[in-house]
Amino acid sequence: MLKTLQAFDLKGKNVLIRTDFNVPIDNDIVTNNYRISASLPTIKTCIESGSGVVIMSHLGRPSGKEDIRLSLMPVGEELASLLEMPIKFSRDCISTDAIDTSISLKPGEIHLLENLRFHKGEEENSEYFSSQLARHGQIYINDAFGTAHRAHASNVGVVPFFKNAGIGLLMDKELNYLDRLMENPKGPFTIVIGGAKINSKLKLIEKFLDKADNIIIGGGMAFTFLKARGKNVGGSLVDKSMVNTAKKILNIARVKGVKCFLPTDAICGNKIDNKRHKENFQIQEIPNELMGMDIGPNTIQRFNNILTESNTILWNGPMGVFEAKDYESGTREMAIHLVHCLSNGSKVIVGGGDTASAIESFGLLKEMTHVSTGGGASLELLSGKTLEALKVLER
Ligand code: AMP
Repeated sequence: MLKTLQAFDLKGKNVLIRTDFNVPIDNDIVTNNYRISASLPTIKTCIESGSGVVIMSHLGRPSGKEDIRLSLMPVGEELASLLEMPIKFSRDCISTDAIDTSISLKPGEIHLLENLRFHKGEEENSEYFSSQLARHGQIYINDAFGTAHRAHASNVGVVPFFKNAGIGLLMDKELNYLDRLMENPKGPFTIVIGGAKINSKLKLIEKFLDKADNIIIGGGMAFTFLKARGKNVGGSLVDKSMVNTAKKILNIARVKGVKCFLPTDAICGNKIDNKRHKENFQIQEIPNELMGMDIGPNTIQRFNNILTESNTILWNGPMGVFEAKDYESGTREMAIHLVHCLSNGSKVIVGGGDTASAIESFGLLKEMTHVSTGGGASLELLSGKTLEALKVLER
């Protein structure tokens, strides 16, 4: 059974917390602190319980070498400012100095360790590196949902070195929404799938064919499904190798009584050159030289009608190329409509990654019931896999 933070007697001990502080940084400033602020409940609980807190995280992909551009120093500054207290920082996560700082930590003090991935041992899940990390504390807490699908030293190798090990409040919240709630969602239950790569979301779609009442498919992958329904989609993105799979999914959905909704119109752009183009077409009429970049206004209306009727909504993947102003409106309108659904009592759960970035860019992150802090991890969990970092904590 997984133990949560509350199961441990924290007072007077050092708690070693693995967080996911892999956040965007520009000119030494954290530009999006969602993952940092999401970890505050765990950190504050430890401080208030009289423990010393040692925090470790990775940032980017330094490939086992020190790279000052990927230092966690700016994260430390952001964390100190959010907590309104000073924090200690060590430039090497397993140096003697760093371990001594942890050993002499007083109750209520925080010590942030430098980027774990400056050492090869982190991604190689080295036993030696794990043993050194374990010297920082007596209790181990994993609150790094975003990396929980990977087996690295700080979230897997380190665990056997602790008698007391469990998950933090953020991890518990992620599991509550992405795993436990999804087992028994209040219907009508609608899942919204988007993005470009149908392959990466196949398992998720298959799993929810047994649970969902409605499946809304938008984004680039919708065109493969439209092709499977025999529609002409002009020059839009179609994954030819997945057309048969899409056909099978649509058939299974029909047999199981799950309604599948696909776009009926699309905002199209130039396929080949980068000349600006923005025009709405009915799906069947998209010219070969144009491709569907976003869902069109009729589709938005139809999708919104389904969402209005839904009590539980799970959203994973943007409705269009939301990174470009011309093609963001389908994703934006959906996010705005979901806020309206929330005010009518629906629960809205958003997978991490691109969908979370889109919602963040619209300033609606805090409005949703839950927005996951993990992209790959939320996809794996929603697809029914047990995350590596949780397997070792089940004891
Ligand atoms: P994924 O990684 O599969 O979730 O895909 C996310 C990406 O899908 C985003 O970067 C979007 O720009 C892209 N995307 C969304 N809709 C379309 C579309 N209609 N055509 C091409 N790419 C799209």
